[in-house]
Amino acid sequence: MLSQLRRIVQDVAQEPSLESALAGLVRNVKQALRTECCSVYLADYEQQHFMLMATDGLNPHAIGKVSIGFSEGLIGWVGQREEPINLAQAHLHPRFKVTPEVSEDCFSAFLGCPIIHHRKVLGVLTIQQSDSRIFNEDEESFLVTLGVQLASVLVNAEMRKMSSGGTASAQQNSQMQGLIGAPGIAIGEAYVLQPASDFDAISLKHTDDPEKELNRFYRAVKVTKAEFNRLAERMSGHLPADALAIFDVYHQLLDAASLGNEIEAQIKQGWCAKSALKLVVERFARQFDDMDDPYLRERGTDIRDLGQRVLNHLLETEQRQHRLPEHVVLVAENVSASMLAEIPRAQLVAIVSLKGSVNSHAAIMARALGIPAVMGVDELPLMQWQGQRLIVDGYQGHILVSPADAICQEYRTLISKDAELSARYQAELHLPAKSSCGHDFSLMVNSGLAIELETTQSEFTNGVGLYRTEFPFIMRSRFPTELEQVELYRKVLQGYPGKPVVMRTLDVGGDKPLPYFPISEENPFLGWRGIRLTLDHPEIFLVQIRAMLKANIGYNNLHILLPMISDLAEVDESLRLIRQAWFEVDDEFNGENIVAKPKVGVMIEVPSIMFQLPELARKVDFCSVGTNDLTQYLLAVDRNNPRVGNLYDAMHPAVLRALNQLGQQAQGLQFPISICGELGGEPLGVLTLAAMGFNSFSMNHSNLAKIKWLLRRIDMAELRLLLPDVLACQSPKQVRVLVQRFLDQKQLLNQLRA
Ligand code: PEP
Ligand code: MG
Repeated sequence: MLSQLRRIVQDVAQEPSLESALAGLVRNVKQALRTECCSVYLADYEQQHFMLMATDGLNPHAIGKVSIGFSEGLIGWVGQREEPINLAQAHLHPRFKVTPEVSEDCFSAFLGCPIIHHRKVLGVLTIQQSDSRIFNEDEESFLVTLGVQLASVLVNAEMRKMSSGGTASAQQNSQMQGLIGAPGIAIGEAYVLQPASDFDAISLKHTDDPEKELNRFYRAVKVTKAEFNRLAERMSGHLPADALAIFDVYHQLLDAASLGNEIEAQIKQGWCAKSALKLVVERFARQFDDMDDPYLRERGTDIRDLGQRVLNHLLETEQRQHRLPEHVVLVAENVSASMLAEIPRAQLVAIVSLKGSVNSHAAIMARALGIPAVMGVDELPLMQWQGQRLIVDGYQGHILVSPADAICQEYRTLISKDAELSARYQAELHLPAKSSCGHDFSLMVNSGLAIELETTQSEFTNGVGLYRTEFPFIMRSRFPTELEQVELYRKVLQGYPGKPVVMRTLDVGGDKPLPYFPISEENPFLGWRGIRLTLDHPEIFLVQIRAMLKANIGYNNLHILLPMISDLAEVDESLRLIRQAWFEVDDEFNGENIVAKPKVGVMIEVPSIMFQLPELARKVDFCSVGTNDLTQYLLAVDRNNPRVGNLYDAMHPAVLRALNQLGQQAQGLQFPISICGELGGEPLGVLTLAAMGFNSFSMNHSNLAKIKWLLRRIDMAELRLLLPDVLACQSPKQVRVLVQRFLDQKQLLNQLRA
C-alpha cells in the first residue's frame, strides 16, 4: 500500500500541468482501490465553492463546470468538518445535493476526504461505488494518507501554474505569503541561487529547442565523466579495486546505451534537459527501490547520486547564463552568508528565502544589512522566478510576482515614505540615548553577520554588545588560522577604541553549518552547537581565544562571551581553557604584562541556565540575554522552521514573564545583564524590556537610530505603568496591542511602522 501511495503522489508531482496531474490521480486511485469512481474538487476561496477538477466515474463533461458551494452538499460538508465522511447511502443523507450534471445516480457509497495544507482546505477527494456499503478502514486510511501527501504537491502545482503556465495577466500581481524576515520594501529582479541542486526542487518544463537542450545535456555528461576520472584518480591507492569499479559503472550508466539514451529520448519528446534527467533518474531509482534484493535496492542510491552530479553541472551552466540584475532580489532555498557575499552590496535590495523563519540567521543578516526579507515561502518551484520582477514587502511578509506598473508605483510611494522616516531617525543618531526624563540607556551594536565591517556608527554607540565570530569561519573553506583571526579581531577592537567589544566564541551548528565541518543531526538546534562543539574541540576554542587575547593587546576593550551554555560545568571548563590560553599568550610575550585578562560573560539563551543565575554570577562578570534562542527553547519552536513560524514569538507572555524574572534577579544579584537578541532592536520589544528595567541593549546597526529616536521620547515613569498589564496578557497579540496603544497615545506609532 505504501509503495502504491508513493507512486500515485510521485506521478502527480511529475505531471507538467495541474489538469493532467489530477486526471492521472483519479485514474490511479480508482484503480488502486478497485472502486467505481474517484473525483477531486478544488476550493476556490474567491468564489467560495469547490470546483470539480477531475473525475473518473462521473460525467467527464462536468469537469471545470460543476461547482458546489462551501456550505452545500456532501462535498461542502467534508470541507466544513475538515474530516473524512464515509456513507453507505449518500443520497439518503440530509446534506446530499442533487447535481444532475455529474450523473451520480448510480452510486450509493461515498467516501470524501479533505485535502488540507497549513490548516486550509484545498479540496476534497472522493471515491464512490454502486454498492451500499461503508468503505472499510484500509480504504479510508488510504484516502486520508493520500490527502495529506497530496496537499503539498497540489500547492506546488498551483504555484507552478501561477509562475509559468498562466497568462501574462494572470501572472501579474500574483502574491505569495511568507513570514516577515526583515522590515522594509524593495522592488527588484529575482536572482535565484541554487547551491545544492535537488530533484525535488526541479519542476517539469517543456522546451521549444530540444537541440539546444541535448547539447546542454551532452556537455553536462562530459563534465561529469571528467569529474569521475579525477575522483577515481584521487581515490586510487586509498580504495580497493572493487570499490573503484563504481566509477566504471557510473561511466557506463551515462553512456548512450543506458540512462543517457533514455534521457535523450525524453529531450527529443520535448522535455528540457533538467526535466528529462529528473524523469529518467526518478523512474530508474524507483525501480531499484522496489526490488527485494538488498544489493540491487542500494543501486537506487547510485542512480540518484549520479543524476545529482549531472544536475549540478546542468544548473551551473544555467546559473552562468543569468546576468546579475541591477536591483537584485536574492531568492534561494536557504539564503546563506556566502550567498550574500556573492552579490555586491549596492545591488542587493531584498532577500527571499524559501526556508527559514523570523529569527533564522539569514533574516538576522538581512536586518543587519538593512534590507527587507521574506522567509519561509515554502514549496515554490525556485528557478521559475529567475528574472521576474518582484516586490518584497518585509513589513507584511508578502511577495508580489510580476506586479503591474500601477502597483509598483504605489509601493514606490511607500518606499519613499520609509526613507523619510529613516532620515528623521538618523538626524538624532549623534544625540545621547537618554529618555525624555533623563534616564540613560546603553545602546550597542550586534556585529559580524553583515558582510562589511560595521564600524561606521561606532562613535554613536556604547560599543559592540555581540560580535558573532562565526561569519568569517563560514566564509572560508577551512578554519581560519590564529594569525588570520588576530587580524580580523584587531580591526573590530580598533574600530571601538575605549568601548567594550563583546566577542562571542564560535557559535556554529543549528542553522549555521560550517561548509568544511558538516554536521548531520536529527535536531541540529538541540544538538552539537556553540560551546558544546568548541569544548569538544579545544584546539578550535584555544586558537580562537588566543587570537582574541593577542588582538586585544594595546586596545584592552575585549570581553568574551560564551554561547549556548546550559550547564555550569561548561562555564568552568571554558574558564579553564581561557586561563590556559591566557598563560600561553602571556608566555609568548615573555610575561611583559601586556596581555589583559578580559571580562567573561555567558549568553542566557538556554532556559536551564536562567535557573542558575546566582551560581553563574559568582563565576563570570556579566551575562547577555539571547532572546532569539531563549524564545525558541522556551516555546519549543524551531526558529528556522517556517511551518511553526507563526508560533515563534518573543512577545509571547511566557517569554516576557521569564525575561522579567531574569531582569529582577540579575538586579538583585548586581549581575550586569544586557539584551543582545533581536527583541531589543524592535520598537515594541525594547519598550517592553525597558519597562521591566533593562537598560542595556545590543542590536543590528540598521535598528540603532530608530531605537534611539524612540527611547529619547519616552518617559520612564509612564512606561513602567504599562508593565503589570503587559505581564497579565494572555497572548503576544494582546501585548502588541497594549504597547501599540501606548505609542499611539504618545503620537509615536504613525512614525514607527511598529
Ligand atoms: C540569540 O540567540 O538571541 C542570539 C543573539 O544569538 P544568535 O541569534 O546568533 O543565535
Ligand atoms: Mg543564540
